[in-house]
Amino acid sequence: MSDTNAERKMTEREVIAFFDEAVNYGYIYNVYQPKVNHVTGRMIGAEALMRLKHPLYGLQMPADFIPFFEKNDLVFSADLVVCENVCKFLRKCIDEGVPVVPISVNMSRYDVYNHDYVEQVEAIRKEYDIPVKYIHIEITETSAIGGMELMTDVLAKFHELGYKVEMDDFGSGYSSLNILKDLNVDVIKLDLNFLSGDIGGRGGAILSSIVQMTKWLNTPVVAEGVETREQAEYMKSIGCNYIQGYYYSKPLDEPDFISKLNVLDHEPLSSDSELTYTIKSGRFWDPKSMETLLFNNMVGPAAIITYKDGKAEFVRVNEKYIKEIGMNLTAKEMLDIDLLDSLDQDSKAIFKDALDLAIRTEDEVTCEYRRDICSKICGEEKVLIRSYIRMIGQADDRYLFYGMVRNITADRRRYEALEESEKKFRIASEQNNTYAWEYEISTHRMRPCFRCMRDLGLPELIENYPQPVFDSGLFPMDYYDLYMDWMKQLEDGVGELEAIIPLTSDRIPFHVRYTTEYDENGRPLKAYGSATLVENNR
Ligand code: C2E
Ligand code: CA
Ligand code: CA
Repeated sequence: MSDTNAERKMTEREVIAFFDEAVNYGYIYNVYQPKVNHVTGRMIGAEALMRLKHPLYGLQMPADFIPFFEKNDLVFSADLVVCENVCKFLRKCIDEGVPVVPISVNMSRYDVYNHDYVEQVEAIRKEYDIPVKYIHIEITETSAIGGMELMTDVLAKFHELGYKVEMDDFGSGYSSLNILKDLNVDVIKLDLNFLSGDIGGRGGAILSSIVQMTKWLNTPVVAEGVETREQAEYMKSIGCNYIQGYYYSKPLDEPDFISKLNVLDHEPLSSDSELTYTIKSGRFWDPKSMETLLFNNMVGPAAIITYKDGKAEFVRVNEKYIKEIGMNLTAKEMLDIDLLDSLDQDSKAIFKDALDLAIRTEDEVTCEYRRDICSKICGEEKVLIRSYIRMIGQADDRYLFYGMVRNITADRRRYEALEESEKKFRIASEQNNTYAWEYEISTHRMRPCFRCMRDLGLPELIENYPQPVFDSGLFPMDYYDLYMDWMKQLEDGVGELEAIIPLTSDRIPFHVRYTTEYDENGRPLKAYGSATLVENNR
């Protein structure tokens, strides 16, 4: 039987009329889709998906008949057929020595309204004598809508019997985070189709924070609907290795699935506990561990921080973070730093305010603060940090943040030095035959100092610099090419320039210099120009 399209879609009436026959003669059957660990290539489980095949109308897909089942209270019986098919299949595999993996079945919310679904599933499992670890139940967020108590009840019953429960289609609803807090599921399934197309943008950011949050909750995540290698690689890069989707396999009928079970190695679905960290855990700092590899794949210097009762702690930081902040510090030294204690009073307040704001707004918050770091080489040192903070999870009064940082100490120092020298410069220029100006590189605007305006009659602002100063003869035309080349070099980010240039029609030699100021991304912003008279006696 191939998993292909219908000859023709069946009407509701036809589906219902066909139901009993379908149950009794095997026209409701299962296909299986593997769940694979993308890092090891091993199968960790599979999902059973229902199919309906009519002798005349052909294969019907769930979207075309499950709603009819649900509407007519038939889905309960159909889901038990799927469950029985799974148990039969597993029994056969176990008896024949085919290595098996846990198989999940889909539970509809209609299965638990006025039905003893849990008891029936358990009875079927016992009848076929299948170890409970091989049956997982997939529930959806929407099953909880309007019936949270019923759902917690069902979940508790399954857990008591030893079943693992997976949260299907996570992220499709509105209250995802709250649901996770209330329903303590064992696996989370994230469907990429809900974030379609946008994996590099906002969708990617959402995915990434969901994955981070699930790590914190200690729950493994399976990414569903993964169709391409790029998607699989992306999920891996944000720390989600478990993949279900066409990229690895379409849903397979029993014979094909048995072949897959035979060729693919298996491994248990790990609770990912090795992926959560405490600051003291040695493995986290092991540069060769999988955890470190994953976390370091995320772009930029990043840290995960928890915050509770006014106490902020690192959960983990990546290598780039240590490099950015710690400079000479080793990971081990970094580990011993108490996040808030390394800040002075002012900085502590700034940082706490930022955390509180991030909690309130659930948006990214930027703050700048100073912190001490001590390194073996430099001793105590103060660095200026710009943090971008976002809350990614909450449980009771504990909050989890994702923080990116930039060490702006050097930028700020350069800026202050520039400011300082400019000030000195302005004072000196008054006594020292020096003319100064500011040149805005991107806009080609030049602002002369007071002295230039007074002595040379320049306006406050010169547009399209340097053309006008050549036109006016302040700069001689034979230096035009050199000077234009300078402007180009400034645009390209050169830090300093200097030359002796004869100025005015009297061709008086001046020492002309430029010093560049950069923005936080290292792009050239402004250049400070000066011209100092070359004294004859020097
Ligand atoms: P679901 O539980 O989210 O199942 C995953 C669906 O995504 C399946 O569609 C699967 O074939 C499809 N899929 C898998 N990989 C990819 C991929 O890479 N790209 C895309 N675009 N799709 C992929 P299917 O089998 O048509 O099932 C649709 C839905 O019908 C299921 O969604 C589930 O809600 C429901 N369903 C299926 N079987 C059962 C069942 O036995 N009982 C109940 N109650 N509902 C079922
Ligand atoms: Ca499912
Ligand atoms: Ca799903």
